Amino acid sequence: MDCEQWVDGFELRPLPKTHESVQWARQKMSKTIVEHNGKKIAGYEIVEVLQVLNSDLWQKYRMQRDHIRRDIGGRVQEIRLFHGTNNALSIAESGFQVKFAKKSGMFGKGIYFADLSSKSNQYTFEGCNKPCKLHNEEFCEVCERTMLICRVAMGNQYKAQNAMNGIEEPPAGFHSVVAEPGVCKNIKYREYVIYQDNQAYPGYLVKYKIKK
Ligand SMILES: [Zn+2]
Repeated sequence: MDCEQWVDGFELRPLPKTHESVQWARQKMSKTIVEHNGKKIAGYEIVEVLQVLNSDLWQKYRMQRDHIRRDIGGRVQEIRLFHGTNNALSIAESGFQVKFAKKSGMFGKGIYFADLSSKSNQYTFEGCNKPCKLHNEEFCEVCERTMLICRVAMGNQYKAQNAMNGIEEPPAGFHSVVAEPGVCKNIKYREYVIYQDNQAYPGYLVKYKIKK
């Protein structure tokens, strides 16, 4: 997930099907499908995986990570997480923008990630469980979807026990909020939230379709 192949500027590089990152994405996505609202999708058809090479965003991410490192005086935990969105291209190009997030989110005005592909898949058409525009069908198998696989600098994780609607930053001393089933009320699957634009780098853009 490193941005090893350096470019100056922005490039979306299509990866061959045999590329290890494509295989990783395919496996990780297919292994992390669970039931949501009584419905479990059957799988995915990966159309294309594009590596996001964006020198400006990568530098900003590293600066944010360094900032957290100085704050905690040690190594920063980074994890690969999914972010489902119909805006993947603009995020790849311009980065995450927390200013577009709603304060009413369960964990406030932040950028939300998941370790389950099916959870992120719920957000691929303009919001949660929304249908595609063309066929007005939530489980459309025809329309292409996009998902980002991101590198997220978690820092000190605050374990939420309740909803935290309205917050705009993590509690003092923390860099992210994590909600886990069993710890946080009304949570079925883990959620990860950051409140700074550059605390995540959108490393891969996956174009795919679902199989119901
Ligand atoms: Zn459709």
